[in-house]
Amino acid sequence: MTLALSRPTAPPVSEQARVPLVTGGDIGYANLDHAASAPCLAAVRRAVDEFLPWYASVHRGAGFASQVATRVYERTREVLRRFAGARPRDTVIFTRNTTDSLNLLASSLPAGTSVVLFDTEHHAALLPWRGPHVYRIPTPRTRLAAVSAVDGALAACPEGPRLVVLTGASNVTGELLPVAEIAAVARRRGARIALDAAQLAPHRPLSIQDLDVDFVALSGHKLYAPFGAGALIGRADWLRAARPYLAGGGATRSVLAQDGGLGVVWNSGPERHEAGSPNTVGVYALGVACEQLGANWDAVIAHEEELGDRLRRGLAAVPGLTELKLLDGAADMVGTLSFVLDGFEPGWLAAVLSAEYGIGVRDGAFCAHVATRRLIARTGGTGGQAVRVSLGLGTTAEHVDRVVLALRQIVARGARWDYAIQDGRWAPTPDPRALPPFLAG
Ligand code: PMP
Repeated sequence: MTLALSRPTAPPVSEQARVPLVTGGDIGYANLDHAASAPCLAAVRRAVDEFLPWYASVHRGAGFASQVATRVYERTREVLRRFAGARPRDTVIFTRNTTDSLNLLASSLPAGTSVVLFDTEHHAALLPWRGPHVYRIPTPRTRLAAVSAVDGALAACPEGPRLVVLTGASNVTGELLPVAEIAAVARRRGARIALDAAQLAPHRPLSIQDLDVDFVALSGHKLYAPFGAGALIGRADWLRAARPYLAGGGATRSVLAQDGGLGVVWNSGPERHEAGSPNTVGVYALGVACEQLGANWDAVIAHEEELGDRLRRGLAAVPGLTELKLLDGAADMVGTLSFVLDGFEPGWLAAVLSAEYGIGVRDGAFCAHVATRRLIARTGGTGGQAVRVSLGLGTTAEHVDRVVLALRQIVARGARWDYAIQDGRWAPTPDPRALPPFLAG
């Protein structure tokens, strides 16, 4: 007799909507846009519900609920530290999202820091760095060449502090970048490394210590906790010495009227950069999501790999479809990919997938304009836009099969409805789909 080992199951997301179709009726929403924002985990939703009666001010309140809320907020720093495999002395600063985290880091760099990064980064990682020593290098086509390119750029940097900024997983192609290898060369050249983990953290275990990086930025809404919190985790010294990111209550230890002006003593811990009332619900939700993922990585990865293979096999059989790739050769990938389809505009395709098939994908340049345009040029195309399909815990095999079949049908026989550009986007005309009841009227 053989024993059937039951496969571990990935944590479920909370119930997803049924969406109307232009052709009539409705269908379960196939959310293939996890890379933009992931649905809420059922466990996160339950935890938020459980916490809400206790919701109160943190740090400043004497009431019991304030003490509970403060405990929740501060304990979540430990949860994030564990989730990111941080060093014991690393700081955890709560932010709004990855963009906020990287801007905070940019505003905390010691004067004269040289910053080295690939020009194909997401705008959140590409744009915040200022000053004369920002080196944006084109991403080479192999992992090895990427490592040497960073090495070469660091060798040419002036003396002084250095920072390499790198994404863990591309939000355009889903490819994983050689983070540990680049961190090793950065270390040899005396540079620190900031990892944009917006796309890596929801899909793979993260370890600041194993990767030997210095800072990690992530977003709760991509980690199945869409309540508006993110985090910057990493070495405390630059952040402790930096000007507070926002000036205001909570960031200060004391403020005294002094010599006709103000004598301000700023906090030196994470609160230094968290002025104003924090997003305690968002922070708690982020922590619960991290705990859920951290306890279920095998199932999370297995779920995504199975569906990712199914998707790539299916799309390979769609005539005229070309997947965008940053690196040559088989790179490890998360369940995100972008493609162009001969003869079809990405915005039109996305509108048809939504209106006729109930599928949500992203079209455009994915806040990575340089990357998207360059990768399309490699396919022989001239545009700057593509379609992105991204999988996650809300994805089922039916969703994957639906998008593959839809694309084959669209290629074979076109759309069944009329579409026109309205306010800069393709939309069905007419569009008979009713908004959900809570928005109607
Ligand atoms: N980096 C990457 C790789 C991303 O995909 C994103 C979001 N698309 C960001 C940074 C910015 O994240 P957020 O919008 O949550 O700040």
